Amino acid sequence: ESRIETKWAGRNVFYYEETDSTNTRAKALGEEGAPHGTLAAADAQSAGKGRRGRGWESAPGKDIYMSILLKPQISPVQAPMLTLVMALSAVEAVKEETGLDAGIKWPNDLVINKKKICGILTEMSLEEEQISYVVIGVGINVNHDEFPEELAGRATSLKLESGKEWTRAKLVAQVMEKFEKNYEIFLKDGSLAGLKERYNGLLLNKEREVRVLDPKGEYTAFALGINEKGELLVEREDGRREAVFSGEVSVRGI
Ligand code: ATP
Repeated sequence: ESRIETKWAGRNVFYYEETDSTNTRAKALGEEGAPHGTLAAADAQSAGKGRRGRGWESAPGKDIYMSILLKPQISPVQAPMLTLVMALSAVEAVKEETGLDAGIKWPNDLVINKKKICGILTEMSLEEEQISYVVIGVGINVNHDEFPEELAGRATSLKLESGKEWTRAKLVAQVMEKFEKNYEIFLKDGSLAGLKERYNGLLLNKEREVRVLDPKGEYTAFALGINEKGELLVEREDGRREAVFSGEVSVRGI
């Protein structure tokens, strides 16, 4: 069943055979006043985006490229938490749909067998220091058959991991259903308090080593899990605990 059974998430869908990036499309829809929950989805992306200006490798007609437009009544400092809400929703959807053993690499990558199957990119637009809208882009490698050499050791797809093809529309519907429920839990107190237990249960970094790139000096620590703000709690070698932001950490060994 690939009909989307949601109240608002993905009810209004703009579909593109090919576009530059669905985040760019969803931002344009935001500028035009499209409603909360509008989804921009494409069969192919010619200029898919990752974080910090990086690219996202596309397999036309095979994968999921979609971006949801949100109009949350939250402050800009809370917006990055939405990335984690989406990561949790996407991993729950993938697990339920395919039965594959997917997990989260903090804060926003989905991983199977140590290789990335999904990336999430959140962008927001501010007006007088308030959020006018947020766009969350999700790229899932569904039926991708092969990756260029530089990605081959780090990227995989649901097809490569399971040996069979998956219906993209069903997965999209599942992600939207999970996201709508998780988003409403997030909005109750504007934090990840109601979601962190499930998130931490799927977190692959837990009890593993991370390298923290603190401006005052790098250090190695053990990751314990996220707190209600979505920060990664780590324990240093001397036992001190710290909460680190996503820009500060490079995660190893996953
Ligand atoms: P990284 O995954 O390199 O640690 P990141 O989490 O910041 O960094 P994203 O911005 O989520 O990465 O995604 C962009 C990066 O993902 C690219 O630099 C590339 O290494 C990798 N990548 C690009 N396309 C794909 C793809 N289709 N599947 C998996 N990984 C990809």
